[in-house]
Amino acid sequence: MHLKFSALLLLWTSAALAGCTASGAIAAPPSSTTPAVGQVERTATPSAQLPIATATPCPPETCAPLAGPPGPPIRLVLPTPGAEPVSAWRPPLYPVPWALTTHDHFYFTHPISADEINWPVPNYRYGSQFGETNTIHTGIDIPAKFGTPVLAAGDGTVVWAGWGLFTGAVDDRKDPYGLSVAIRHDFGSQDHTLYTVYAHMSQLDVTEGQWVQAGEPIGQVGQTGFATGPHLHFEVRLDDSSFFTTRNPELWLVPPEGWGVLAGRVMTTGGRIMHYQQVILRAADNPDQFWVVYTYGPDTVHADEYYQENLVLSDLPAGKYTLQIPYFGYWFDFEIEIYPGRVTYFTYRGYQGLSTEPPPTPEAGEAVPTP
Ligand SMILES: [Zn+2]
Repeated sequence: MHLKFSALLLLWTSAALAGCTASGAIAAPPSSTTPAVGQVERTATPSAQLPIATATPCPPETCAPLAGPPGPPIRLVLPTPGAEPVSAWRPPLYPVPWALTTHDHFYFTHPISADEINWPVPNYRYGSQFGETNTIHTGIDIPAKFGTPVLAAGDGTVVWAGWGLFTGAVDDRKDPYGLSVAIRHDFGSQDHTLYTVYAHMSQLDVTEGQWVQAGEPIGQVGQTGFATGPHLHFEVRLDDSSFFTTRNPELWLVPPEGWGVLAGRVMTTGGRIMHYQQVILRAADNPDQFWVVYTYGPDTVHADEYYQENLVLSDLPAGKYTLQIPYFGYWFDFEIEIYPGRVTYFTYRGYQGLSTEPPPTPEAGEAVPTP
């Protein structure tokens, strides 16, 4: 029974990880919207309450779809012709752990060093669908050259180093994660144990049982397992190091100084979670610069306990943006602001529009609804 289940799971996941790729656009957000490091007040306390935006239906005669009908995220190419030149420049990261609000938990530093691209492939994020399949991405992919050092995202003990992390079979050369490492961290989040996973490496520099420090090299970027190009597949897991306990790494990786993260819960008017819903974010001062993101697929991935989000977009320079959400054939635009060093949260509920009210804090013992 268990074996049969595992075999089915492997088949299904093989397909999922076959799509774990770094190919496609490595679209960096613009230098034009990038604040200079010195301009950011790191100690400033952002206002807890953001202004509530009003939904503005777009009249059908004037509102053509902005980017055509939603398609598989893997096919997106960013930015559009004519957009500002992209830049790979980023400010230095905030020190970890970084948490400006009670519910933020930027506990991990980036697993690729700051002088390389160390942010996720934009069109295949956590929760993304792979092509036309029903498989969902349980981590983020960071594109990097073969041999780029992979760094521990936080202090902890190596609990897996080698082949077989997914199947659990030691030295399984057919394991979709390839040569991989799992670290159980010395710190947790509330009562939860935290793990990070690094997959597809070409070489490992650590062994099981070894204690590592944040930033310490643990191996090198490669293409082992099911990967279509060299990249690091990175996961954050809660409570248990399992494929089924992942959370969105973009809510756990510390942002660059002065940059922030957008998290949202996108629902129908009736309050049902919308899967694979396209959302566009445009820089207010440069509408040609935009980010396209899709809400999570229905299976395998998990929302944050507090935010209950189904969409996260990190790596955003602080500032004003326009959020564009298509709903039943119309695009709805909302103004939203990204604050430095924290999560900006919104809920979208169909014709009821957008709210930036923070989620209610669950009472102790109260069940948190799951999307
Ligand atoms: Zn991946």
